Amino acid sequence: MSKAPIYLDNQATTPLAPEVFDVMVPWLRDNFGNPHSTHILGRRAAAAVEVSRDQIAELLPESGNIVFTGSASEAINLAFGAVRALQAVGRNKIIILDSEHAAVRDTALFYEKQGFLVERHPVGSDGIVSLDRLRASIDDRTALVAAMLVNNEIGVIQPVEEIAELAHEHGTLMLCDVVQGYGRVDIPGNIDMAAISAHKIYGPKGIGALWVRSGIDLPPFIHGGGQERGIRSGTLSPALCAGFGMAAALCIEHRESDAAHIQRLADMAQRCFKDWTINGSLDQRYGGNLNIRREAVDVARLMSDVREVAFSAGSACASGSGRPSHVLAALGLEAAQIKSSIRLGFGRYNSLEDIENASKLINEAVGAQ
Ligand code: PLP
Repeated sequence: MSKAPIYLDNQATTPLAPEVFDVMVPWLRDNFGNPHSTHILGRRAAAAVEVSRDQIAELLPESGNIVFTGSASEAINLAFGAVRALQAVGRNKIIILDSEHAAVRDTALFYEKQGFLVERHPVGSDGIVSLDRLRASIDDRTALVAAMLVNNEIGVIQPVEEIAELAHEHGTLMLCDVVQGYGRVDIPGNIDMAAISAHKIYGPKGIGALWVRSGIDLPPFIHGGGQERGIRSGTLSPALCAGFGMAAALCIEHRESDAAHIQRLADMAQRCFKDWTINGSLDQRYGGNLNIRREAVDVARLMSDVREVAFSAGSACASGSGRPSHVLAALGLEAAQIKSSIRLGFGRYNSLEDIENASKLINEAVGAQ
């Protein structure tokens, strides 16, 4: 069997934590009850779902509810439903940052087609929004501001707390895509909705959630049996919920050691890639994401030459759609700079040797171009 590649694509997805796998297996193999059944098997499954809901809530603001979804993309689509009722009271504007993930961008585009005015708000050359400029954009007709916590392509951290304050000055809702920050970066307590995804925190694929502040009404998103308080019908998977809950609990348990480990990996990576330029802010960033460029590097060739390392081309929108990166374009980078960028993402299960070996392979291949 060929050797497993060095995995440096932890923003795309993360490996499943062994503890998560262990907690999921009995719910897949033995405890098959429907969590919405009222008999003993159902009640056991429902209890497991509620334990996981509580574990996930530990990392989110107080005074809210968690709605399980199939992904963060679904959670974001669900959150946008809040604007429907606001349109009826004269709030017809949606503001998103120009560097948002496709799940936010394309949902906003959908609402633009429904008659909303959508503003893609610029970010600076460091990838961070200007609060003064944003203040001038939000008004009493704004229904929703969507701004992400940690950018999935370049790792920069937005001033989310301040953005939420600006939104609230005008009675505007604030949705935060916290997918890449959840479990790693503190989530401000004043946001109104937050989208999260299990597979970015060493949990299973196929489950996400929307956290919604109490008092915010969302229209039903999936109609049917009335699960998830009538907002998102469909039978929940106790295995996926239990896995998500355990993944969140592990983030809490390993919070300090994870952070110290990521910092060591990031320091090592910055040393190993010192001839490259970092895209985005150097200080307002999550260290586990390194998006770098080097003049005249042919990234397509690099990726085919270095198959022993799983990493991403910075030029491709990292949502996996194959679209060009709107995030690097939003920083004002030229086409050639975007094309010579790569994204490396480190996580809990990477070692310093991974970084050393991967950088050797990548830098040697670049030298040979
Ligand atoms: N938002 C961000 C910032 C992401 O990185 C991702 C995943 O790439 C998503 C949303 C969508 O998450 P999911 O794969 O759970 O739909």
